[in-house]
Amino acid sequence: MQLPYIEPYKIKMVESIKKSTVEERKQWIKEAKYNLFKLSSDKVIIDLLTDSGTGAMSDMQWAEMMQGDESYAGSRSFEKLQSIVKELTGFPYFIPTHQGRAAENVLFSSLVKEGDLVPGNSHFDTTKGHIEFRKATAVDCTIDEAFDTSSLHPFKGNVDIQKLQEVIASNPLEKIPFVILTLTCNTAGGQPVSMQNIREVSALCKQYNIPLYFDSARFAENAYFIKVREEEFADKSIKEIVKEMFSYGDGMTMSAKKDGIVNMGGFISLRDAQVYQQCTTFNIMYEGFITYGGMSGRDMGALARGLDEATEFDYLESRIQQVHYLGNRLVEFGVPVQQPFGGHAIYVDADRFVPNIAKAEYRAQALAIELYITAGIRGVEIGTIMADRDPVTRDNRYPKLELVRLAIPRRTYTLSHMEYVAVALKNIYDTRHEAKFGYEIKWEAPIMRHFTVELEKIGIN
Ligand SMILES: *Cc1c(COP(=O)(O)O)cnc(C)c1O
Repeated sequence: MQLPYIEPYKIKMVESIKKSTVEERKQWIKEAKYNLFKLSSDKVIIDLLTDSGTGAMSDMQWAEMMQGDESYAGSRSFEKLQSIVKELTGFPYFIPTHQGRAAENVLFSSLVKEGDLVPGNSHFDTTKGHIEFRKATAVDCTIDEAFDTSSLHPFKGNVDIQKLQEVIASNPLEKIPFVILTLTCNTAGGQPVSMQNIREVSALCKQYNIPLYFDSARFAENAYFIKVREEEFADKSIKEIVKEMFSYGDGMTMSAKKDGIVNMGGFISLRDAQVYQQCTTFNIMYEGFITYGGMSGRDMGALARGLDEATEFDYLESRIQQVHYLGNRLVEFGVPVQQPFGGHAIYVDADRFVPNIAKAEYRAQALAIELYITAGIRGVEIGTIMADRDPVTRDNRYPKLELVRLAIPRRTYTLSHMEYVAVALKNIYDTRHEAKFGYEIKWEAPIMRHFTVELEKIGIN
């Protein structure tokens, strides 16, 4: 019998979880206006709201916290971080920022202007936000298979080269400041981009002399998928794969709250001296001096170590296997989930789970609320509420899919926590025909309404 994989670490410090009862949670979620973002974390048993900044640091990272050099300029902690980023990415220039969107703000301030087009593979919402804020357009060139929930394509984050070629060929080149590839792609949940696809995108960009940047929040998880799914890379180390991925581009923005395994942080790294120089000015204006960019010295030290740990195969295998363990258990229980599973989250398909609740009554939100009440598990609705209203008609913008995302924090929960989540969902699934309530909106913000929306329970017909 094959030995199971194990977490390549043991536990030295624990944080207690406050338990609660179904009756308490019914009351709390009502007080929170049926919005899971409004719950204080003490009222949550297992928090799968996001994998961003919620991971557990290692003892070596905590040791770095003690050694942080808080000098304003040229601190040792900065040098440590710069050195590992250069080594991992091969890019010669490095600028720290306080998180991923700050890196986007600095880089895009240098490169994006009104009327520009920025093609990519389903841009992350802050990326799109920073493009649209500058009155430019994010053009999605993701392969069609990404939007087909029944497709088991191994690299659903890939760019459709033909779509990209068409965008480039049908627009003036000076309107396309760069192409951005998100690794892994968030569409349909942390889907990877293959090395083959990165090479093809890079070749096309070089042909037209367009720079290629990476939105790298989950670059290490992407490298893991390349290693296990692309034969050519089976014997390569994660660090070798990472180096090759970045060798095809001109720079990257990073949210270190993901694959940096820190609670806060980010950076930019670049190949071009001129772009670097432009970025330094914006960094000083928005973030801080170029050797800290909004991060404390100790945080830069912890990030340096985190990047090294996140690019080790044993860590990535247990990380992704844990996510997939939850996905596989749900499949065994017959609970409808999106496949193939991505790197950082499992997506429950509310359309197939509770079709008896109308879309207009926010079925994915109803399911997320039920999961909270039943077991104290906090996921997040990725459905009609999050999709907002049409800016012109103000009607609900019904998305293709109604999902509940269960994002798994790094190194934070154990397999028995995953089992708890799976069984909670199974129990709800087994009684899904008894679902009694949908929801209606009582108050909402004009945009990004999901964070602050207030809901009321309504009986379903
Ligand atoms: C989280 C994330 C960002 C933004 O980073 P923050 O650190 O949250 O500001 C950008 N792109 C992707 C793909 C992300 O996952």
